Amino acid sequence: MQHALEAWLRSAATRIHEQAPALTALDQAIGDGDHGINMDRGFAAIVTALDGLPPVDPGKTDVAASADLLRLVGRTLISTVGGASGPLYGTAFLRAAAALAALPVEAPPSTPAVVVTALEAAVAGIGALGKATTGEKTMLDALVPATEAARAAVDGGADTAAVLAAARDAAAAGAAATEPMLATKGRASYLGERSIGHRDPGATSSALLVDVLAGVVADADVAV
Ligand code: ADP
Ligand code: MG
Repeated sequence: MQHALEAWLRSAATRIHEQAPALTALDQAIGDGDHGINMDRGFAAIVTALDGLPPVDPGKTDVAASADLLRLVGRTLISTVGGASGPLYGTAFLRAAAALAALPVEAPPSTPAVVVTALEAAVAGIGALGKATTGEKTMLDALVPATEAARAAVDGGADTAAVLAAARDAAAAGAAATEPMLATKGRASYLGERSIGHRDPGATSSALLVDVLAGVVADADVAV
């Protein structure tokens, strides 16, 4: 799992760099035009942090090593990304790390169950910090349906790749569904009715992150 996480973060950094102008353009329409720049800065810092990591302690379980990695990502995002999205995404990763660290060491759940546990903790953390819920034109409009779809897939016995494919489809649909919404949280809410008709930048970056994760896990070369 830890290798898949690292592969995800590196691929995500590349995709975010490519998509930074598009994310910034979305934020120019309903925010202050920095979302792509913010995300690119944060993920570049994550890659630098990954490059500087010592080899994983062989005495650590995969879940514990994954928790360490998620904690590092959370701290890096909080310290390098400004704006609303840095603390929100950073908190999501810190909460996911804490959820993994709290799992029983001797008998951890199956990998798809661990993935959904992490997603649920991440989404709860964003909701708590941002005091937001679905329907407010934020990243939660991609992440909440993604997490719900992932939970339903796990409960139906799906493997990790299928769980994340379900999450990816729900996140994409959720991000698209922000376009007609009225923003009631964050900078976009200052625009009132003028926020309608534009896709939310944070929901778009969230869908991108889930898409890259699903792609990495579907790739047979990366063991989960
Ligand atoms: P800023 O708005 O400070 O410039 P960014 O442009 O990087 O920060 O991120 C904007 C994104 O953050 C929005 O598109 C939205 O998805 C998300 N966001 C803003 N406020 C909240 C909130 N209270 N809860 C959840 N997400 C939020
Ligand atoms: Mg912005």
